[in-house]
Amino acid sequence: MSLSVRMIRFRLPVLTLLAGLIVGLSMVGGVLYKIDLERVQDRLLADALARNDLRAKQLADSVAQQTVALVRLFDMALLQLRQPFVSGGLDPAGVADIILKGMPPGSVNMVFATDERGAIIYSSDPVSRGLSMADRAYFGFFANGGEDRLYVGIPFKGRLGAKNWVIPFARVIRKNGHFAGVVVVGLLPEYLSKAVGVLSLNPGDIVAVVDYDGYFFARNHNEQEALGRRTPADRPFLDPHRSDSDTFRATSSVDGTMVDFAWKRLTEWPLISVVALDERAEIGSIRTAIAATSLRVNLTLAAIMSFSLGIGGLLLWARRQQRRMERLLDEQRVMLESELVGIVKVANRAIIWANPAFEKMLGYGPGELVGASSRQNYPSEEAYVALGQAAYPILDAGKIFRVQCEHVRKDGDHIWVDLSGALLDRNKGITLWAFIDITERKALEFTLKRTNAELEQFAYVASHDMRQPLRMVTSYLSLIEKRLGPAMTAEMKEFFGFAMGGAKHMDRLIVDLLEYSRTGRSAKFVPVSVGDVVGETLVNLEVAIREAGAVVIVAADLPNVVGDPIELTRLFQNLIGNAVKYRAPDRPPRIEIGCRRQGRAWLVSIGDNGIGIAAEDQERAFAIFQRLVAPGEYEGTGIGLAVCKKIVEHHGGRIWVESTPGEGSTFYFTLPDRSPV
Ligand code: ADP
Repeated sequence: MSLSVRMIRFRLPVLTLLAGLIVGLSMVGGVLYKIDLERVQDRLLADALARNDLRAKQLADSVAQQTVALVRLFDMALLQLRQPFVSGGLDPAGVADIILKGMPPGSVNMVFATDERGAIIYSSDPVSRGLSMADRAYFGFFANGGEDRLYVGIPFKGRLGAKNWVIPFARVIRKNGHFAGVVVVGLLPEYLSKAVGVLSLNPGDIVAVVDYDGYFFARNHNEQEALGRRTPADRPFLDPHRSDSDTFRATSSVDGTMVDFAWKRLTEWPLISVVALDERAEIGSIRTAIAATSLRVNLTLAAIMSFSLGIGGLLLWARRQQRRMERLLDEQRVMLESELVGIVKVANRAIIWANPAFEKMLGYGPGELVGASSRQNYPSEEAYVALGQAAYPILDAGKIFRVQCEHVRKDGDHIWVDLSGALLDRNKGITLWAFIDITERKALEFTLKRTNAELEQFAYVASHDMRQPLRMVTSYLSLIEKRLGPAMTAEMKEFFGFAMGGAKHMDRLIVDLLEYSRTGRSAKFVPVSVGDVVGETLVNLEVAIREAGAVVIVAADLPNVVGDPIELTRLFQNLIGNAVKYRAPDRPPRIEIGCRRQGRAWLVSIGDNGIGIAAEDQERAFAIFQRLVAPGEYEGTGIGLAVCKKIVEHHGGRIWVESTPGEGSTFYFTLPDRSPV
């Protein structure tokens, strides 16, 4: 076990270091990789955005070019169309026919000319001839002296023909410097929308032509919805202070996605080409890829984190286990190396291990006991077998077996041991035994017992033998008294009385002492009814009780106990006798005998209403020869309570008194309940 601990001790710090290194490196690597990745991603995104910007710009340029070309074409047409009205030589219908044929198919709604009052004097659509256009903005512009240039109107829903959206382009007709009408070509914005829409576009991209107020002239998607409407007023290309071409990013007014805008003003005419490229087309895939990679990296980092946390926890746990194991081993070492406790492991009656303390205890050298039979340490085969029979049922029940027994040393000496055994491994039949050498204690106990016995014997013999000379003294004193007879003076009679009283008291003392020394010597423990014992006591004390006029109340439910009936009778006789004797002069004694349970014991009480005992005397009362009253006041020797104490302790109990002087005393004693549970 110590080997593996040493290995753990060596390995744990190395493992901790290694794990820390791996975790640290992978964390640093992970974080660096993440930083690097983010840089690359940022660059990729910036590149993609720049590319998108460039494309938007190029598209805006090309839309502008297309629009310029178309508007120029329309202006040329107008210039040619007004020629016949200015010079008057040509046939307007013929000119118009030629012009219309030269225009891109589907681009023109109609061409017409008005006179100076606004009435249509010529139209490619004959139905409209004669209609007045005087309310039109372009007519107003030129009629009020507007300069001779191309007038670009805003789209309107046509009143004539197919009622399409039309963008009017107009020029003035002047004859001899006077206003003579206008020529107008209607551009179908559908055509412009289609023309700009053929550029290479992604599905979400938008190209449009708007005027300086933001009115749509063309849009590649849904131009029908756009016509007549304006772009949001805060678009930077509507700001006259901004340059003629630029790019910006904004959220689309259509669906809120991020859009790259580019614009180019046509400058010659108040028109702007606007391109809005959906970022998703160009950058979306990059963003998706970035998100996926980021997720992967984050997951990897999280995995590393949790892994390192796991490793940390594991190492912490291992460290704690190691500490615990070390502590355990320390405890075990203290125990195993202890000088006081011998420890032996036994498998199938053979010693398989013994600690130095055990070897020393039995006088063997190191390792000498290993392999020996455990029997050899016992004084006899019978002792060994008896111990085994007592121990194994307890060990098999998983409990600790304890006993005090003799062991034999290598040199043949006997020692006493306090033995504890426990089952270690049931399957292999291994038991563990701990031994404490109690030889010295046992020797002391023996000496004490012997001395006590000798003392008791001495007291018995002494008191017994002392009564003989005492009897001689009293009998010769009586003889002298008789011989002297009437010759005795009153004083001599008194002296004789003192001498006889002293001798009698001495005899009483000796008898009581004898009783004290005899107590417990020949006791026989049998089941006893306390009620019977009390009954017999009361018979013995009948005369004294009657003379004192005492009332004795005995509890009905006195128990049965195990004890010596003669000693128990003496116990009650002393206590009840005292209760009668130490009565108060002014009232007859009232004595109560009770009993109740107290744990595993019976608590007996004898209460009286006598003179009582002062608190400071209550303990002293139980010592031998201790009297608490003045000599001559009450008869006695001061031995009775000492005998009671000896009897109670001999029965395994305790005795004490509680009292209030002048009111009475209650004596208590306990008797263990030895009846089977
Ligand atoms: P003794 O009665 O022979 O004097 P004990 O040992 O029986 O000796 O009692 C010791 C002393 O305790 C007594 O002298 C008496 O002073 C006191 N004592 C004993 N029992 C009582 C009692 N019931 N009430 C008051 N005092 C008592």
